[in-house]
Amino acid sequence: MESLFGKTLAELQQLTAELDFPRYTAGQIAAWLYAKRVDSVEGMTNLSKHSRSLLSSRYEIGVQIPQKVQVSADGTKKYLFGTGNGKFIETAMIPENDRITVCVSSQVGCKMGCLFCMTGKQGFQGQLTAGEIVNQIRSIDESGSISNIVFMGMGEPFDNLEEVMKSIEILTAPWGYAMSPRRITVSTIGIIPGMVAFLEKSEAHLAVSLHSPFDEERKNLMPVQAAYPINDVIREIRSRDFSHQRRVSFEYIVFKGLNDSYRHVRELSRLLNGLNCRVNLIRFHPIPDTPLLGSDENTVQEFKDKLNSKGILTTIRASRGQDIYAACGLLSTKELVKNS
Ligand code: SF4
Repeated sequence: MESLFGKTLAELQQLTAELDFPRYTAGQIAAWLYAKRVDSVEGMTNLSKHSRSLLSSRYEIGVQIPQKVQVSADGTKKYLFGTGNGKFIETAMIPENDRITVCVSSQVGCKMGCLFCMTGKQGFQGQLTAGEIVNQIRSIDESGSISNIVFMGMGEPFDNLEEVMKSIEILTAPWGYAMSPRRITVSTIGIIPGMVAFLEKSEAHLAVSLHSPFDEERKNLMPVQAAYPINDVIREIRSRDFSHQRRVSFEYIVFKGLNDSYRHVRELSRLLNGLNCRVNLIRFHPIPDTPLLGSDENTVQEFKDKLNSKGILTTIRASRGQDIYAACGLLSTKELVKNS
């Protein structure tokens, strides 16, 4: 049966027109689905009995509870949702002072093959619908108190552009969750057409995985560099206005002996010179079957200081949830292996 959850107001309007319901019922259904978190069509009590019975003969709500939850010693939680056919996606909940950040997945697995990523090693297993993306916000224990959402879980969001944009619409629209887009960050490896569409149609923040400013090196880490070189990605970003509240940041995993030298500091500061942005340095925790190692703490600190001294605002991202496989894709890979 088709799900109602994950439909936009326009889709609900089309659906109610097809069922010959009064036009205003679309808004009522959206309110039940998103603001009032109804569990069944029967619970939509301001719809007539006839409407409810017709609606439930064709549609279900379609929310799903997580199949597994792991809690880290630092309070980070990892939720595992089934997507049918024995596949899984992960959602991380990261509490931080008075903030609760949720990291959502946008695809099952991923085609992009980044060398440092467990999700990439799983390969691509399917797209998530807008409903499956928003369900990761709706169906976790902390659902009512989420302050920020980051699209940094499994998958490349701009390789599933339509459903990701729909999910952002549901999260930010007044008829949906009415969140400010400034509380949402979408992270990409730099799929330029998708990034441009996102920048034009949404007001959410952008994060770009950079990891190396040098062409050959980045290509080895991230095959996407061959199709969309980082220079082109940054040129596109420079052509837009980030001087107001919208933010652009760059993610940089610091690998030992690979991208942590002064040569990298110099090239990074040349690449980002004058751009209103922030660089987030990320410590790498080894994953199975990769030769990559994380840089030591001193090197990461020095790298940060050198970039800051060149005028590039740089911070180090705190590592969270290491004891529960917080690295992208690790938990779901473990589940896949167990079930195969
Ligand atoms: S880092 Fe992101 S884009 Fe690259 S393989 Fe992993 S999930 Fe895909």
